[in-house]
Amino acid sequence: MILGKDSGIYLIDAHYARDQLASVYLIEENGKVALVETAHTKSLEFVQDKLAELGLFAENVEYIFVTHIHLDHAGGAGSYVQAFPNAKLVVHPKGVRHMIDPSKLEAGVIAVYGAEFVQNMYGKLESISPERVISGENGLVLNLNGRELVCYDTPGHANHHNVIWDIKTKSVFTGDVFGIGYPELNVNGEVFAFPSTSPVNFDPIKMNQSIDFVVSLNPLAVILTHFGAVLDVPRMALDLKRMVEKYTAIAQKNLASYDRVMAIKTELVSCVKQEAYDFGVRLSDTKFTEITDIDMQLNAQGLDVWLTINYNSK
Ligand SMILES: [Zn+2]
Repeated sequence: MILGKDSGIYLIDAHYARDQLASVYLIEENGKVALVETAHTKSLEFVQDKLAELGLFAENVEYIFVTHIHLDHAGGAGSYVQAFPNAKLVVHPKGVRHMIDPSKLEAGVIAVYGAEFVQNMYGKLESISPERVISGENGLVLNLNGRELVCYDTPGHANHHNVIWDIKTKSVFTGDVFGIGYPELNVNGEVFAFPSTSPVNFDPIKMNQSIDFVVSLNPLAVILTHFGAVLDVPRMALDLKRMVEKYTAIAQKNLASYDRVMAIKTELVSCVKQEAYDFGVRLSDTKFTEITDIDMQLNAQGLDVWLTINYNSK
């Protein structure tokens, strides 16, 4: 078991949008704690509950990692930093200024999701004072009571994306660069995952390179923010890279489509549904839509942006 007392890695359901969609991970090493991801502010109470359950205190938290600054990962960062007085936030160098002053980030997210959604989901994003922020440069090692946690720059999903390598357990917290795999899509404990291409930095070449990089660490497990641990890493890498290729082919085919996002989404849904079916997933269409619709919409929007940047502007 990669999660639980033996590894000191605990999965906390952030209850973000629905159950088992987004997680916050708690890493404990002899009384010291690091968190990976912060979901939204409302998830803080579930982290506090977990700390209490483990007999730990707010003061024990030393690091708060976010893999990238999309708000299902960094939306709670300001509130977490306030709640954990000794903790430093560790974020990719390109994310630092947006954590110190989240106004631009907030405006960008409103442009994608709408003001009402952002207000309901996140409230006001709290700014974080610069001395509480560590720039997670590529290769930076953070020491949690002797347990080394390493940041690696892994673009492709976002250009402000790190994975966190836990040397002790040989596991990698992969944020969104190594796919999304919801428990509802698992088959006999095997995880079906699909690539996440949400706006605005999707880059298929970089995503494949980051996937290869994660595999090159030879991990025992990858730990997905969405949602849980995966053990058969090389198999999943192949599946993800095949799907990245299919995604981009679908986007390119629809370069001149009238309602491009809708056209891409329709084909993406069939593509991922077929991949899931081939994997052994047996869900009704209604359930499949319920589980994947938000991601399919975001993936289509991200591919649309990718087309605009790479083809329309030339
Ligand atoms: Zn995410």
